[in-house]
Amino acid sequence: MSDLFEKIVSLSKRRGFVFQSSEIYGGLAATYDYGPLGAELKRNLTQRWWQAMVYRHENVSGIDASILMHPSVWKASGHVDAFNDPMIDDKTSKNRYRADQLIEDHIERLRKKGKDEDAERVYEALVAALNSENMSQGLYDIIISEEIKSPDSGVADWTDVRQFNLMFATHLGPIQEADNKIYLRPETAQGIFVNFHNVRETARHQIPFGIAQIGKAFRNEIVARQFIFRMREFEQMEMQYFVKPGEQMEAFEAWREKRMQWHVDNGIRAGRLRWHEHEKLAHYADAAWDIQYQFPIGWQEVEGIHSRTDFDLKSHQELSGKKLEYFDQQTQDRYIPYVVETSAGLDRTFLMTLCDAYTEEEVDGDMRSVLKFHPAVAPIKVGILPLVKKHGMPEMAHAVEADLQEHFHTFYDEKGAIGRRYRRMDEVGTPWCVTIDGDSVEDATVTVRDRDSMAQDRIPADNLATYLFDKLRNWKA
Ligand code: ATP
Repeated sequence: MSDLFEKIVSLSKRRGFVFQSSEIYGGLAATYDYGPLGAELKRNLTQRWWQAMVYRHENVSGIDASILMHPSVWKASGHVDAFNDPMIDDKTSKNRYRADQLIEDHIERLRKKGKDEDAERVYEALVAALNSENMSQGLYDIIISEEIKSPDSGVADWTDVRQFNLMFATHLGPIQEADNKIYLRPETAQGIFVNFHNVRETARHQIPFGIAQIGKAFRNEIVARQFIFRMREFEQMEMQYFVKPGEQMEAFEAWREKRMQWHVDNGIRAGRLRWHEHEKLAHYADAAWDIQYQFPIGWQEVEGIHSRTDFDLKSHQELSGKKLEYFDQQTQDRYIPYVVETSAGLDRTFLMTLCDAYTEEEVDGDMRSVLKFHPAVAPIKVGILPLVKKHGMPEMAHAVEADLQEHFHTFYDEKGAIGRRYRRMDEVGTPWCVTIDGDSVEDATVTVRDRDSMAQDRIPADNLATYLFDKLRNWKA
């Protein structure tokens, strides 16, 4: 793990963004809990996503489907048969890896060494293997011929490559039998497909229209390291957009642009975002691009934009025997719509937001650690700091806080030197601190300190909310 990544992980724990799940029992691999500040950041991100996707598009409605679904759903979607990752074991260390990722890491190492031609050759072999009939054998052959060694033991003592289904299975009801086996959903999308008609009819949508959803998904990942980047229980923010067949590429391009802009609008540096085209298209897709972010652990996917054709609706129609067609009143056409989906990981968006905001800088000879969040996503918007604990300052500070709580998440702190209190607020990314001093009590003015410039404005306490709203609206990184 890079130093920077370690610092972010440690800050997350120390300041209450993310904790290991069940920590007092030694934790549970690849599951995490969001602490007080993490829960706020997550909420702000989901609110902004919902606003951008649902409120700003009249033809997009939101739903909240259940995690448990009829087992036939996963048969129709292809997950029972094909939601596999290729795994390989190191016989010496007994550690397990994803075969395709071992090869990707190898390609990355070749690139770093300037061996671009070799990297390209292996990359082409990887794409061919992923798309071949016998993917496992293809991947195994590359690992052997490239003499790829295990990252832990340093030797090449490999088992065969096997396919591993990532779905978590459980049973419905008290008796565990094969015919009541169900799954925890591995993606939120299927809850949308099976509700296609329900939403279309009740929201009175015509094609093109979208259905959006935020919810948990579960994948029994083979290797789940790297903090909240790859978890076994995570959250997705997905939207499926239904279009007339033939019009999917136009919608695909439009949503691609909007989704990239959303991340930039959240304050993420555009230079750390890029597009990546899938090497292998999923069985249902006719185009697929990922938005990647330059994490301290390298460029990694945050969101996928996929053109899913009519695969899902068509297979649900076949397996359920229920028509999932759309009838266009104007043209009198009847068809199964095509689908463009935008599928963002909430936890990865969270991690990206933390990484992008994390800053260390020198101020007057001291180092300060600041999270330069966009104020709209900052867990605490305003710190309320009475200069001292007497002379009416705490009383006035509480009154100011009560006023601001109507609109913003605030944090009251009267303990310690004011400089230290500012630093504590900087460290968790609070964009503004309101200080109440001796003059405030006399003339009803307060000081607002800006996290990034550290400049201070003196303003009437009555204008505070309006002042902060203006700042929020006009904020530029
Ligand atoms: P990866 O290749 O990294 O496993 P994926 O291509 O399987 O991801 P999708 O099925 O496209 O991912 O899921 C959409 C989004 O859900 C991803 O862009 C990612 O942000 C998020 N996601 C997927 N798997 C996980 C996971 N195990 N932990 C956290 N987020 C995840």
